[in-house]
Amino acid sequence: MRALTVTPGTKDSLRLDPDFPEPAEREGGLLVEAVAVGVCGTDREIIAADYGEAPPGEDRLVIGHESLGRVVEDPTGRLKWGDLVAGIVRHPDPVPCPNCAAGQWDMCRNGQYTEHGIKGLDGFARDRWRIEPEHAVKLDQSLGLLGVLLEPTSVVAKAWELIDRFVERDPWEPENVLVTGAGPIGLLAALLGQERGLDVHVLDLATDGPKPQLTHDLGATYHSKPVHELGFAPDLVLECTGAAPVVFGVMDAVGPCGIVCLTGVSSGGHQIPIDAGALNRALVLENNVVFGSVNANARHWKAGAEALSSADRTWLDRLITRRVSVEDYAQAYAVQEGDIKVVVEFT
Ligand SMILES: [Zn+2]
Repeated sequence: MRALTVTPGTKDSLRLDPDFPEPAEREGGLLVEAVAVGVCGTDREIIAADYGEAPPGEDRLVIGHESLGRVVEDPTGRLKWGDLVAGIVRHPDPVPCPNCAAGQWDMCRNGQYTEHGIKGLDGFARDRWRIEPEHAVKLDQSLGLLGVLLEPTSVVAKAWELIDRFVERDPWEPENVLVTGAGPIGLLAALLGQERGLDVHVLDLATDGPKPQLTHDLGATYHSKPVHELGFAPDLVLECTGAAPVVFGVMDAVGPCGIVCLTGVSSGGHQIPIDAGALNRALVLENNVVFGSVNANARHWKAGAEALSSADRTWLDRLITRRVSVEDYAQAYAVQEGDIKVVVEFT
């Protein structure tokens, strides 16, 4: 069968292996036929050899962590032939730490977790893959290819769940949210904000391409300006750029009792001047919460699947700006202007 593989640690080693071995039974009882995988920045970092770890004893790693497939066989009988599923990316560490032991591997404390297509486990960019049945999440069949958006949706579902917990600390109900960055994560975060009935604002540098219209069609307001020129103090912020001036800009801009969730992973080395004392004073005097959020556990994957099921299909479809056949994989992993989400199709 076909598989997209890399040699972790070797730059630009991505290739399509035509005769990759069938998935081994020890990978899990559930056998799935791949429909598509989504491409994201992490894949490009793995291809650039900044990241990535092959399974123990292997040289190559099958990439692809944003999955969509059709069930071929489920020994537990829970899923039936043809059901659309996505595979949960992270698996608990073997120790396990208290969080992994309780199923919250997204909060792993010792870093020994594994991740399909990223860290120590083969990914989903292969014709067939296996996973433990409890690590497969069923999707609404009517989503079709759009189900490939579940992995990034699970990440924002977790961010929103944590925001909800902080919101509960006082009687005040936030009315608006600022989402910074209109990539797939930002737009999906905006979608979930909209589904919560909030007044959603999206800020991004782009002035053309699909992002402004996608934001508008969600019923949200698009801003292409620096954070300090927004003209209002957001109640909630979902930061999805990882760009240092935006990160510190939103901490400064958020209103009293406001909550800032950071989801963007920055590359180091960018220094910007910060009045740390003034920032600290503002955060303390306004009871602000600033927290980081990464990955997702089974609860968030299910919440993500529900959010996608409720979403407008035409709008979701426009998030997928390119569909590339696995045979033309190189095109999928090269960045093109106007890309939001690129998917590699297997069938
Ligand atoms: Zn752990």
